[in-house]
Amino acid sequence: MNARQSPLELVKTDLVWDNSFHRLGTAFFTPLAPQPLSDPYWVGKSPAVADLLRLDRACLDSDALLQALSGNQPISGTQPLASVYSGHQFGQWAGQLGDGRAILLGETNGLEVQLKGSGLTPYSRMGDGRAVLRSSIREFLCSEAMHALGIPTSRALCVTGSDDEVWRESPETAAVVTRVAPSFIRFGHFEHFSASNQMPALTTLADYVIDRFYPDCRADTAFGGNAYCALLQRVVARTAVMVAHWQAVGFCHGVMNTDNMSILGLTIDYGPFQFLDVYDPGHICNHSDRQGRYAFERQPDIAHWNLFALAQALLPLIKDQAQTLRALNTFKPVFGDTYYQLMCGKLGLTGVDGERPHPCPPPEGEAVTAVRALINGILKLLAQDRVDYPIFWRRLSHARADGNTEPVRDLFLDRPALDAWMLSYKELSAHVYQGLQANLMLKTNPKYVLRNHLGENAIRAAKQRDYSGVTSLLALLETPFAEHPARDADAGFPPDWASQIEISCSS
Ligand code: AMP
Ligand code: MG
Repeated sequence: MNARQSPLELVKTDLVWDNSFHRLGTAFFTPLAPQPLSDPYWVGKSPAVADLLRLDRACLDSDALLQALSGNQPISGTQPLASVYSGHQFGQWAGQLGDGRAILLGETNGLEVQLKGSGLTPYSRMGDGRAVLRSSIREFLCSEAMHALGIPTSRALCVTGSDDEVWRESPETAAVVTRVAPSFIRFGHFEHFSASNQMPALTTLADYVIDRFYPDCRADTAFGGNAYCALLQRVVARTAVMVAHWQAVGFCHGVMNTDNMSILGLTIDYGPFQFLDVYDPGHICNHSDRQGRYAFERQPDIAHWNLFALAQALLPLIKDQAQTLRALNTFKPVFGDTYYQLMCGKLGLTGVDGERPHPCPPPEGEAVTAVRALINGILKLLAQDRVDYPIFWRRLSHARADGNTEPVRDLFLDRPALDAWMLSYKELSAHVYQGLQANLMLKTNPKYVLRNHLGENAIRAAKQRDYSGVTSLLALLETPFAEHPARDADAGFPPDWASQIEISCSS
């Protein structure tokens, strides 16, 4: 079937495949194999994700798996396919899209395994079906970094590369990310069948998602016993939680089109993403986003907008506009409460109930008004003085631990304003909450995030065939709260050249 046919022994892994998406039928996909890449090599590997799949770690050293994940050899038990979906891109209906460069191999151990950059599919449109090395390394590292930060995300098993040329703005080389999630179903899958009036398929898809991922919807009476509306509400809640995490950690996704929104509320399709360096609420990380639709501070509203698009698609099944709106209206409170709790965690406003920490006070009453003012106050100062976001939080955590606030003060121009804020922070911590948990703050505010320049350094070395930077950066980002004193420089301010890095949709 492929140009290269090597023995299959190792590709007959001990993985047990059960391809439930494939059983939905060909209205949902086109069966096809990935296209071969010549003479592939390993670029990055995650043993942790191998464990998750229950894949023998030794397989990550095997040539058979390298060939298989680069499209040169089939894996027994898989039923490869490219799925069809549609979506709204930059606020406009884009019509049919689909897996233009991804192939779903199948599911194992409850996880779908997908190859991204694996060649042409019927949904490639004008594209070449490929992904380049730099964007594949970024997706690989960021998936694992987000997971380690406790943010819902797809995972990545590995990146394989090849010298095969791929043309973007200039010639680059091809790579494949093997990524993993319970499902890669997007809002756009629902939009596809709804917009094309394929009601039986829409029903099949919704029932599949409910049965597999949200079975409690069937017994939910909250929306007049309407399981499809309960489904919508679950997706609303999970999406709100995901975006609250993004806002708290300072993550900008960059392309929140509805075809990039997971039905499971996972961060997926890493493209021109960025972790904030300075706190700039209007930051636009995607150079293709001329209007700033996906600017950092707009992400919650955009998520809500995207959920409206999903709701619109589900309406023929829900058949009740009032209930649909009720489900949609849960976005703001869930987002608000989650964001509040996460920010309280960052501030160390965490009560301790016996041995177990519990987040902040419940979001009600007078104390909450004061805490909200505290959160808004510091965000305003961070923006005004263009303070580095991760460094501020880490220094604040240390200040709580050792009482030395000078390193925090050093970050600000408007010291009197900062001092006033520190005073109210201290008062609120002392009077309302028992025992600030500096220790917890150090486990909440990461020392290491995947800043653009860190990824860029690993990519530049990888282009010279040195993949050690990918491996060592992965190890760092897997434990982002640990000190790693030898890597202090990677927790420091970005170099001047970092602001020149331009990341666009081109990947
Ligand atoms: P993205 O912006 O990466 O989420 O992609 C949007 C759509 O374009 C999806 O349907 C992708 O599969 C498709 N696409 C992106 N890049 C390529 C490519 N190089 N070749 C084929 N399809 C692509
Ligand atoms: Mg996409």
